[in-house]
Amino acid sequence: MAKRLKIRIRGIVQGVGFRPFVFNLARIHGIRGEVINDTEGILIEAEAGEEELGAFLDELKNRPPRLSYIYSTDEEVLEPRGFDSFTIGKSRAAAGRDAFYSPDIAVCGDCLREFFDPADRRYHYPFITCINCGPRFSIVNDVPYDRENTTMSGFRLCPDCTAEYSDFSDRRFHAQPIACPLCGPELVLTDPSGKIVSGKTGDIADRCLEFLERGMILAVKSTGGYHLVADAKNGSAVRVLRERKRRPFKPFAIMAGSIESAESFLDVSDEEKALLLSKERPVVLLKQRKSAVDPFVAPGMTYHGVMLPSTPFQHLLFSIDPEMVLIMTSGNLSEEPIAYRDGDALSRLGGIADYFVSYNREITVQSDDSVLFVSDGEPYFVRRARGYVPAPFKSRKTGRVMLALGGDLKNCFAVAKKDIVILSQHLGDMSDMETYRAFRSTVSHFMRVFDAGAELVVTDMHPSYMTSVFGDEFEDAGLKRLRVQHHHAHVVSVMEDADIDGKVIGIAFDGTGYGTDGTLWGSEFLVADRAGFERAAHFSDFPLPGGESAIRDVWKIGLSLLYSRFGRGYSNSLDPAEEEVIEMIDKGISSPSTCSIGRIFDGVASILGISSSVSTEAEAAMLLEEAAYEEYGRAEAYDAGFSMKDGAIEISTGDIIEYIYDRLKQGRSVGEVAALFHRSVVSTSLKAAAEIRERTGIGNAVLSGGAFHNRILLHGIKSGLEACGFRVFVPRRVPFNDGCISLGQIAVAKEIISLE
Ligand code: ZN
Ligand code: ZN
Ligand code: FE
Repeated sequence: MAKRLKIRIRGIVQGVGFRPFVFNLARIHGIRGEVINDTEGILIEAEAGEEELGAFLDELKNRPPRLSYIYSTDEEVLEPRGFDSFTIGKSRAAAGRDAFYSPDIAVCGDCLREFFDPADRRYHYPFITCINCGPRFSIVNDVPYDRENTTMSGFRLCPDCTAEYSDFSDRRFHAQPIACPLCGPELVLTDPSGKIVSGKTGDIADRCLEFLERGMILAVKSTGGYHLVADAKNGSAVRVLRERKRRPFKPFAIMAGSIESAESFLDVSDEEKALLLSKERPVVLLKQRKSAVDPFVAPGMTYHGVMLPSTPFQHLLFSIDPEMVLIMTSGNLSEEPIAYRDGDALSRLGGIADYFVSYNREITVQSDDSVLFVSDGEPYFVRRARGYVPAPFKSRKTGRVMLALGGDLKNCFAVAKKDIVILSQHLGDMSDMETYRAFRSTVSHFMRVFDAGAELVVTDMHPSYMTSVFGDEFEDAGLKRLRVQHHHAHVVSVMEDADIDGKVIGIAFDGTGYGTDGTLWGSEFLVADRAGFERAAHFSDFPLPGGESAIRDVWKIGLSLLYSRFGRGYSNSLDPAEEEVIEMIDKGISSPSTCSIGRIFDGVASILGISSSVSTEAEAAMLLEEAAYEEYGRAEAYDAGFSMKDGAIEISTGDIIEYIYDRLKQGRSVGEVAALFHRSVVSTSLKAAAEIRERTGIGNAVLSGGAFHNRILLHGIKSGLEACGFRVFVPRRVPFNDGCISLGQIAVAKEIISLE
């Protein structure tokens, strides 16, 4: 007896070869019917006997295509319609628009083999792609994911490509972005005025290598935007790039040609190797074993951000010189967003790059390279972007369509619809106007491609965040508005990611976040659930002279910490600039109170003479961590005193300052004192968590906040909590830093709405 099944599949099922997969599966199992793409995902009509249908369904669910991600399948049994064959039907619009599409994925092995095969018609063709690889997120304009809704729409398939596209046995069957040298985009080499220097890929690669050898800087259009490329071994090229890019300190990511090349100068664990070679091809932070690149690539740092080639053109460059190591950094000036439109790139990067490698296919939405690191065998995101966005998160609660705007630093926003949440790529810091503009246009892009007509907007509590101001616009337009406290969002983002509920002790250690009392928080121990929280402990406040905007002058923070503890007693000669800061503190002029752990790290770095002013936010803290590595194993623990204030434990920041300052005056080395400081923060934090557990009986702990990108802190607190019996949850699919805020905002909002 024949049955007809109507099967609805949701998830990333478009642009990943799902229809050909279903088609082939149907042939194998003798199924009649059809498969179509629509705006909700994949819809299958399958007619056959019970047994055939069972086997078909089983394989469908358990062996889906490599790039697919199924999060729901629903079946409905219907009367047979009498299909006589199985076909791929025309895409159509359904009632809802829930289609997702894949992130941008590195070129696959099959395509690479063809790329390097002189007999292949796509030999050295840099836009070679198939159903298992290539650009997706960066070329999609709209759903459903069909060629006409991508920036490949202007390129008409030639007869050979059409034949592959229509042949179900071909790897390019219904692969939307396929092309060849006859019908697809072309690579060009130009000078900064846009004048074409070469249009032949092989020649372009040769010329690029020659330019790199001569110490020049290239702007190369990659998947999610332009990279600035230079020879990482060439000291003068590195310095020129730093100067032109106005980036004096922040480490540059580098690209090695192969895993063997990376292993020749870096320590690479199995987990790190798996990440480097993954189809997402992120930047992985790896410990340098011997110096192989110029020290100014990552000044003062033991760790390098390293990735392997992901585009055919990158592979081509390294095929000419497998030993080279290239700087591969975002094509931008200082903190601006990555350039991804051709005209814009020429004008913004014209003063940085000597030559441009570009192509005539538009990038619809920019994305930077993703960045991860491994600690104790577990991978953690620093930045979630290319390769991972827009993969959906499944949420335990279904709810209204929401837009969560995240925070102003390391921004990443989120849209939520039914039971899914989609996080945007990392967008950067809103203090930069260009970034703010990119943020706004990316919000519109997401609302279009995920058809998220939001009913509710969620923002941070910070009154002057740009994201909050943008939230006002939605509120004025009639949307319901919710504000979520920054560290509550941090903690709940991890609960959402780990899919846990109930009460936790959330430790949120970060730069700063606006507290419910109007001060700047940032060393929080919250007793929290998804709906709310109680501040259970924090480090004691100190004045932040100059406020949040002055965090580059870390010497002022060091001074404030010392002055708060010792008064004038710690020094008998203050220079006029220092006197001025003390006057600001005394008179309370733009010196808000903060308990931020990030700022404590900055101040301690200054007290230890490691940095006095910095060019990027985490610089001082990173150098302090570096200084501590060597001695950490030998450092003894010291616990700062606790007192009670407004019902919360107040951990004496001054105790720690006095402890390290005394050791410094005793002539202990900077490295030793840096280690003692780390050890004290870890041990004091463990003590605070234990005391909160004592009082509340809560045994689940959650870690969040950018300070946990510090490996010593992460390992020390996580393993310490575990050792005393806590179940510890850490973010797996979002970063510790503010890139997680929007996910937390969504989860809090869903909970609050469901309680109303
Ligand atoms: Zn491929
Ligand atoms: Zn073609
Ligand atoms: Fe934060």
